[in-house]
Amino acid sequence: MTTPLPNLTCPLCGGDNQCAPANTGSFQVDCWCRTAPVPSDALARVPAEQRGLACLCPRCAGACEGAPRSTEN
Ligand SMILES: [Zn+2]
Repeated sequence: MTTPLPNLTCPLCGGDNQCAPANTGSFQVDCWCRTAPVPSDALARVPAEQRGLACLCPRCAGACEGAPRSTEN
């Protein structure tokens, strides 16, 4: 039985990745990343040593989709 690693920060920006399994220590909970499509472009930017181990944050995961940025206008 594997348990989630407590990787609570985004490997790209260092922000909160809001990963539910990492927060609870159980894969029984659904993570937002199960339903949100993460572009392969974003995954490609994750350092190799953290790929598949740490979740991106929603902002970085959606950055390649042209999602509107609330901080820029
Ligand atoms: Zn991020």
